[in-house]
Amino acid sequence: MNKLALHGDLLDFEATPGWGDPALHGVRWRPDHWLLIEDGRIAGTLPGREPPGEDWRREEHSGRLLMPGFIDTHVHCPQLDVIASWSPGLLHWLDTYTFPAEQRFADPEVAAAGAGLFLDALLAHGTTSAVVFPTVHAASAEALFAAASARGMRLVAGKVLMDRGAPPALTDDVAGAERDNEALIARWHGRGRNAYAVTVRFAITSTPEQLAMAGRLLARHEGLYLQTHVAENRDEVAEVARLFPEARSYLDVYHRHGLLGPRSVLAHGIWLDDEDRRLLADTGAQIAFCPTSNLFLGSGLFDWQAAVDHGHKVSIATDVGGGTSLSMQRTLAEGYKVQALRGTRLTAWCALHAATRGAAEALGLGAEIGHFDVGAAADVVAWDWAHGAAALHRDAVARGAVATLPAQDLHARVFAWMTLADERNVAATWVAGVPRFERGRMLQNVSIGTALAARPDPRDPQHADGADVRSRHS
Ligand SMILES: [Zn+2]
Repeated sequence: MNKLALHGDLLDFEATPGWGDPALHGVRWRPDHWLLIEDGRIAGTLPGREPPGEDWRREEHSGRLLMPGFIDTHVHCPQLDVIASWSPGLLHWLDTYTFPAEQRFADPEVAAAGAGLFLDALLAHGTTSAVVFPTVHAASAEALFAAASARGMRLVAGKVLMDRGAPPALTDDVAGAERDNEALIARWHGRGRNAYAVTVRFAITSTPEQLAMAGRLLARHEGLYLQTHVAENRDEVAEVARLFPEARSYLDVYHRHGLLGPRSVLAHGIWLDDEDRRLLADTGAQIAFCPTSNLFLGSGLFDWQAAVDHGHKVSIATDVGGGTSLSMQRTLAEGYKVQALRGTRLTAWCALHAATRGAAEALGLGAEIGHFDVGAAADVVAWDWAHGAAALHRDAVARGAVATLPAQDLHARVFAWMTLADERNVAATWVAGVPRFERGRMLQNVSIGTALAARPDPRDPQHADGADVRSRHS
């Protein structure tokens, strides 16, 4: 029996917090507790500092937050190459930066290195599960599943479908794509912690025949996911209307092809109407809200209040590289600002729930991830409460450690943390109870610095070849 006990301030959710309500409903706050992990699963908790028995390996993270690993429901593995690229808009951004970057992933070696780099970066940002786009190449999906398996991570991904509207090096055809999908599903769906997602890039880059094939795959195989983009940008919406004049709306294009269901994850959903929202609620599909991407590309302001009013599911995602950070705190902080511009105040509880238990339940993975219930996978992150002079002071104010200022409630403290924290606050990340990241180094063979290390740094003799770098990190 492999027994690990982590001591710190435990924060997770046992139910959905009230919308717009900073009260503690649904919040499970257990400061100064031991989190007990047996064979990679949560086994229970123990209050106080008194450690569990000698047979437990103990790690002290006193004064740190221990939370379930974040779940990023929409992110593009190959786009770390193009994050933070200047562009006048989405369609230009795709043509100029993204499609050329994705063409490199035709090479299985580039795809393998890119997948390792990307997943290590997620772990270093405190994200332990993700719904991911690789590229149109089967090798890129293969590489991503292999890299996630090596790290024990929960991954939902699938080869991207694009049979028009993209450079020839990034297009497939219906028959070839169906064969590739069948092979990848047979090899990876349900294997370990992997699940396959039929991955339609968006309606513009798939013919009706390819969308119909995607619908057939979903009908043929149980438990598949569907991931795509919807209604991100007004030019895109107009183009979809031109290509699919028979559809009532952009979302309806997907509905007509059998692509909407409880395992469908649609990024953005900014330019929807109420009929679309009812359709999302009726089918159980979720919108992945991507605030840093929506702001960066000038796409628009997602209406979360309308989603709540219509009862459809919302998770939260970075959408790197349209998004500007893999940090979920930065993403949540920008999400707060987007909702503020819409006249709604997102609480820290609603935001953090959407990035943990809420996302897990929206994906149908509520038994496995997103919380510290007994039996859940022990995907855990230890966070420093503050980094840097301003955040340290702000946290001291919240704790009541600054003379003449009264202590603030837990929501005030956690909201300030969420707004000011980022990947610098990650002290350690565990996946299924296995340490995978510690500040300053990765705890596995593949690491940031080796992946995609095409050229050694001439200033540093230790970087002369990848093997030296690897040995320093392993
Ligand atoms: Zn995207």
